Amino acid sequence: MKSVAILGGGPAGAFAAEQLASAGLRVVVFDEKLAWEKPCGGGLTYKAYSQYPFLIENSTPKRLVHETVLSAPRGGEATLKLTDPMVIYSRFDLNRMLLERAERAGAQIEKARVLKMTRQGAGWQLHTSGGAASADFCIVAMGARNPLREVGTELKPRDTMTALGYYVPGDQERIDLQFLPGLEGYIWIFPRCGHLSVGICGKGEPAAALRQRLERFMMERGISRKDGTFYSHLLPSLDSGSWQANRVAGDGWMAVGDSAGLVDPLTGEGLYYAIRSADLAARALLAEVGDLAAKLAHYRALLRHDFAADLEFGAHLAKRFFVGRILCGAVTERMVEFTRRSPRFSLIMQDLFAGRQPYAGLKRRLLRNLNGSLYDLGMSLGFARVVPRKSPGCQNP
Ligand SMILES: Cc1cc2nc3c(=O)[nH]c(=O)nc-3n(C[C@H](O)[C@H](O)[C@H](O)COP(=O)(O)OP(=O)(O)OC[C@H]3O[C@@H](n4cnc5c(N)ncnc54)[C@H](O)[C@@H]3O)c2cc1C
Repeated sequence: MKSVAILGGGPAGAFAAEQLASAGLRVVVFDEKLAWEKPCGGGLTYKAYSQYPFLIENSTPKRLVHETVLSAPRGGEATLKLTDPMVIYSRFDLNRMLLERAERAGAQIEKARVLKMTRQGAGWQLHTSGGAASADFCIVAMGARNPLREVGTELKPRDTMTALGYYVPGDQERIDLQFLPGLEGYIWIFPRCGHLSVGICGKGEPAAALRQRLERFMMERGISRKDGTFYSHLLPSLDSGSWQANRVAGDGWMAVGDSAGLVDPLTGEGLYYAIRSADLAARALLAEVGDLAAKLAHYRALLRHDFAADLEFGAHLAKRFFVGRILCGAVTERMVEFTRRSPRFSLIMQDLFAGRQPYAGLKRRLLRNLNGSLYDLGMSLGFARVVPRKSPGCQNP
């Protein structure tokens, strides 16, 4: 294989292009917009920049945020100090940085809309708004709204969240996350360079209802929409039953990022998985593992082993987390209370935010810390006289 066409030049497509062009393949990226302000928080976790340090070590404008405030109506507020900050980019800047890296590695970047792909012998004929092109192999990276039905994840309504919001003038030092009763999703306020991104994501609720919830929240917080710009987009959030049959590769193609449904179903984090899946796709394509079919199987196995199995587990937890109940209250309310009152629980939350705590080991860690967290909670509620001084759980930080 000599030539690869990359359909879509967002984070996933641009990073795949950089990796493959660096290895000496002839790579063309087709994107209808190139760098653009895609509706997105633009937040990158420690997990992303610790594995790909160029995501923080660069001169591109960005915000480093060290504090998140979690809130839920009957759970109050909890401030979470982030030992490893969240890095927030404008998507225009992030996309441009990634496309420039791809170009420097030798990839050709074309501003064109991909209209169709048809088989031509063992390769592909591509029909774009700029004309026809051919390639030996295709990487599908056109995001959640991939218009080509025959390649990439087949997103059903149960596999997506609606995400919408406003870019509004303003500034603050912290990230705000608000959970609401009955909402399988959350509201966020992300500080970005020069403005705030205030948005909501939710599953199984019409966009109009989500918008109403968000506008009510903004009114309560005194955030004006007057000079704001509205945005909306689709966020993949695969149902637990959809992961096993997820179509991430097929004859002559691999899908990466949102086009492969690779987004954390609980947090909506997709940037890391876009870059990581692009990295794994490039590794599989370049690997000495036999024929093309073997490379496709290798990609599926790499994804599963690296993070897809954990995201599938996250999908099992998502509904229980957002709309479930525990200790006579909503899970999200209890989570906020525990974060506020228990230093041990707060540490677990910090690790979840940074991406250091996989979902698979979460239950075990929570149980291991349960005694200690309940002890913290009791003490913070003023039960010092009725709770024994030393709890056995305290030995288990
Ligand atoms: C409101 C919102 C907030 C989010 N916040 C965060 C966050 O804070 N942190 C985080 O990690 N993730 C976040 N995400 C998820 C994140 O935006 C995505 O997971 C990420 O952008 C996926 O990258 P991608 O390259 O796969 O797709 P995209 O970024 O969508 O890129 C796809 C590219 O394909 C191009 N394209 C599409 N169709 C065609 C075509 N026919 N021809 C040519 N080009 C085409 C587009 O122009 C685009 O550049 C958020 C998502 C939403 C909707």
